[in-house]
Amino acid sequence: DEDEKDLPRREHLELLSKCFGHKKFRPMQWKIINSIMNGRRDNCAIMTTGYGKSLCYQYPSAYMGGLTIIVANISACLLGSANTKQKDTIDEIFEDKYSLVYLTPEFSTGDYGKDLLKKMYAELPITLVAIDEAHCVSSWGHDFRVQYRQLGIFKDIMPNTPILAVTATATPKVRDDIIELLKLKNPQILCTGFDRPNLYFSVHLKSTDPLTDFRRVMEREGGEWKFSGSTIIYCITRKNTETISLLLSEIGIKSLPYHAGLSLKVRKDTHEQFVKDKVDVIVATIAFGMGIDKPDVRNIIHYGAPSSIEGYYQEVGRAGRDGLPSKCTTFYSYNDFAVHRRLRENSYGNAATKANKEKMADLMLNYLTSRDCRRQFILSHFEDIKVQAPKRPLCCDNCVRKNVQPDNEVFVGLDNEGRYDFTQDAQIFLEAVNALDGKFGIAINAWLGSGVVNIQQQARLGSEKFNNQQQQPTTSTFVKPEKNENQEKESSINLYKPEKNENQEKESSIKLYKLLMNKRYEIATSLDCMPYLI
Ligand code: ADP
Repeated sequence: DEDEKDLPRREHLELLSKCFGHKKFRPMQWKIINSIMNGRRDNCAIMTTGYGKSLCYQYPSAYMGGLTIIVANISACLLGSANTKQKDTIDEIFEDKYSLVYLTPEFSTGDYGKDLLKKMYAELPITLVAIDEAHCVSSWGHDFRVQYRQLGIFKDIMPNTPILAVTATATPKVRDDIIELLKLKNPQILCTGFDRPNLYFSVHLKSTDPLTDFRRVMEREGGEWKFSGSTIIYCITRKNTETISLLLSEIGIKSLPYHAGLSLKVRKDTHEQFVKDKVDVIVATIAFGMGIDKPDVRNIIHYGAPSSIEGYYQEVGRAGRDGLPSKCTTFYSYNDFAVHRRLRENSYGNAATKANKEKMADLMLNYLTSRDCRRQFILSHFEDIKVQAPKRPLCCDNCVRKNVQPDNEVFVGLDNEGRYDFTQDAQIFLEAVNALDGKFGIAINAWLGSGVVNIQQQARLGSEKFNNQQQQPTTSTFVKPEKNENQEKESSINLYKPEKNENQEKESSIKLYKLLMNKRYEIATSLDCMPYLI
């Protein structure tokens, strides 16, 4: 029976449990393993992080014997490193002492490596060649590496050995490149689907104060602001990671920076402290990623726009591997894209690669400014057909705005018709406008259009007053409160009104400016419109 043949048998499961400690295969794992062991077939597998790709390339040799060669970008690699006992190790490989050999792409494609591979193919039963992070072969990918491009040599050297190419992110274009450049023959192409149902996506414009921004994600615990659970904050530059980490430490949050400029030892310690829950937050450049297998990361924050959807999705993929709800929050400014442009211009790569990177950054900007479902945006970017999957009304900020359901924690601040009460924001803003003698007329325009009752009431009251004085208000004029001395004293307007003293005046205008900038962004994002409208 065909079906029976395609299911794992008892001896398969016994080995799985004995060697790997798992009770059953995940569906795609078995499809791959079965096609390698029984069909000797090539595979191109796109698997979301955490699905379990290592089992796919470790199992066949464990079951069938023979050697599996894994090409991976792992720095602690047996043959790629300066290993003084390299000769002994190689002898042992030929004595059939190992099931798995890890090679770096550099080693495999060098002259010595190629000769060794030829010898292995001639003398040893090779069960499988696995190529991890296979998207690196493609210059369409976000992480192109030159040596990967030459990995087609495996098919030339070992024409009868099945190849398994695995990656966690690949658009159809990248997938085609993988198949072509690795010379895969009639490969089985599989994709786990990119949907991560437990992730919540939201995007905000940066304000002038990172801590104000982070409080959108944080929770208040006995008067202190805390992140709920382990958090990774990605920044674009090394310097940013240091300053942000310091800011967090100052308010009592255990946090450490992580970037490629730190010594290997420091990075290793930091990683370890994070995994052991000794620090709550790692503020990192994208150098922090490889090998993070912490199941309970609750927040991934991008403080600064990511440079591609591919990279972004790989980074947020580190959240919620345990399947519990986790938040992915991006704070960006337009200036971030100027920073990316500079980095791009100074980076390695030809004009076409750079143009492609620019396109990826443009797409990222589209994602950030999109008003539609962010999850759908990402999934259709990867052309994930399966994602007609269940709609989730609460998967991102945009959907939350559109599908209001009370009693859900994400809706804090919204009433049951999906409106946000701007009273407080508006008061501060109005006070500020007043202090500036009504110069922020356009702001009021935006408010009047926002449908917030209290503001309309205020405006109406104001216009009634004007009418009484036989004056027509214009939308671009702020209506000042009456010149009642007591009222004026009571109102906090005075707080922001420039004092007569020059220094004080300067100080309070700076304070006012900062306040305006923060509020402007907050109100703009809440109103779902661009800040320049306000
Ligand atoms: P990936 O490399 O795809 O991100 P890993 O190979 O590191 O994922 O596996 C992710 C986690 O899933 C590991 O903790 C692993 O033990 C677990 N895992 C893998 N396969 C299975 C399985 N068949 N059943 C249960 N857990 C599994």
